[in-house]
Amino acid sequence: MTIALVLVGDELLGGSRRDRNGPWLAARCRELGVRVGEMHLVGDDPGRLAALLSGAARRNTSVCVSGGLGPTSDDVTRAALAEAMGVALVEDEAAWAQIRACLRRRGRVPAAGERRQALVPAGAQVLANEAGVAPGVRARLAGATVYALPGVPHELEAMFTAHVAPELVADADAGVARAVWIVGVPESDVAEQIEPLVRGVEVASYPHLGELEIVLRASGERADERVRRAEQAVRERLGARVYDPAPGERIEHVVVRLLAERGLHLATAESFTGGLVAAMLTRVPGASAVFTGGWVTYATEEKSARLGVPAETIAAHGVVSEAVAGAMAEGARQRGGTELGLATTGAAGPDGVEVPGRAPVPPGRVCLALARAGGSTEARTLYLPHGRRLVQRFGAVRALDMVRRALGRGAG
Ligand code: ATP
Ligand code: MG
Repeated sequence: MTIALVLVGDELLGGSRRDRNGPWLAARCRELGVRVGEMHLVGDDPGRLAALLSGAARRNTSVCVSGGLGPTSDDVTRAALAEAMGVALVEDEAAWAQIRACLRRRGRVPAAGERRQALVPAGAQVLANEAGVAPGVRARLAGATVYALPGVPHELEAMFTAHVAPELVADADAGVARAVWIVGVPESDVAEQIEPLVRGVEVASYPHLGELEIVLRASGERADERVRRAEQAVRERLGARVYDPAPGERIEHVVVRLLAERGLHLATAESFTGGLVAAMLTRVPGASAVFTGGWVTYATEEKSARLGVPAETIAAHGVVSEAVAGAMAEGARQRGGTELGLATTGAAGPDGVEVPGRAPVPPGRVCLALARAGGSTEARTLYLPHGRRLVQRFGAVRALDMVRRALGRGAG
């Protein structure tokens, strides 16, 4: 059982708009346990689209089309689908009523082309669009079910969730899938470590910019037992590196949840991450209950002026050092009046950091520290062999992971 994804629109081919719907649909299908057999971008060309739909319908059990349902002459999906099915377009009365009602609510009268949106291939069904004007279409073609959805991303997402996902799930040989998330181990090392533990299940790993999702999957006989046994073994092997985001969550959600559960508060002091740690935390709804604020102290003098890092510590260890990271973390913790302080200092690259009287700090070397009430501070040095943006991102993730590890797994 596979699905084909077809993204329609000249703007997707012309480089003026990046496709958002394909990756979104692919991610939802993966969550539903539905394999994507193929994905295509195609222009507003009815002939090409009709041929593509026919082929995709023969090769897959379902086809999901995005775009080309609107009222303008470049909206060709209905016509292409009718052509592929070898039937005429007919007006669907209920759809036309829906369109008029929707326009009326928006205080508009139907424009000349608007009635075209009520046309569907003969024998097809209309899918209500709660979020916009153009209804969707469900039709049978060459043994497959074809779903045509609007291209506007929030309309497509609402309609896929309401109409398509439940039908795909009902048909899926769902199988069983379980995810294990970790930070800080290269993908290839993980693969090597878990290889002997996962016989009899399918393993896929998905890197998410510093976080790694390992999915264990099986179907058929005793699938559940096989997946659970493999998961157990993988979790034991990876130990404290494993954490448990809920679907759609990332490490920052887990950190916020852990802090909230324990009634703890965090302040940040950032240098090479430039506020990214604070930005990640504040993306999480409810972060205000646990994150009080942070400092971006980029220049060396700022670390002393704002956070009270002693000049002697900087002179003795260099600005990229565990001692300075620790003093920054403690400075943020004290000034923020929080139980925890988290700090980052490092060389994001592409150049190293010049340090008076010592060898320059090579790009990618970073120091992170977590200070706790009572004076215990933990610091670590990492070498992140990447470009500037990734050093910043991976550094921020690793910093958040220090908090996460100090507090637990954070199951959602
Ligand atoms: P409309 O009624 O708005 O015409 P439609 O179903 O005909 O809806 P399109 O005309 O293909 O959809 O696209 C409508 C809007 O959504 C356009 O701004 C388009 O750029 C955007 N869009 C369409 N497809 C995608 C996509 N795959 N990724 C991101 N944006 C898209
Ligand atoms: Mg359109």
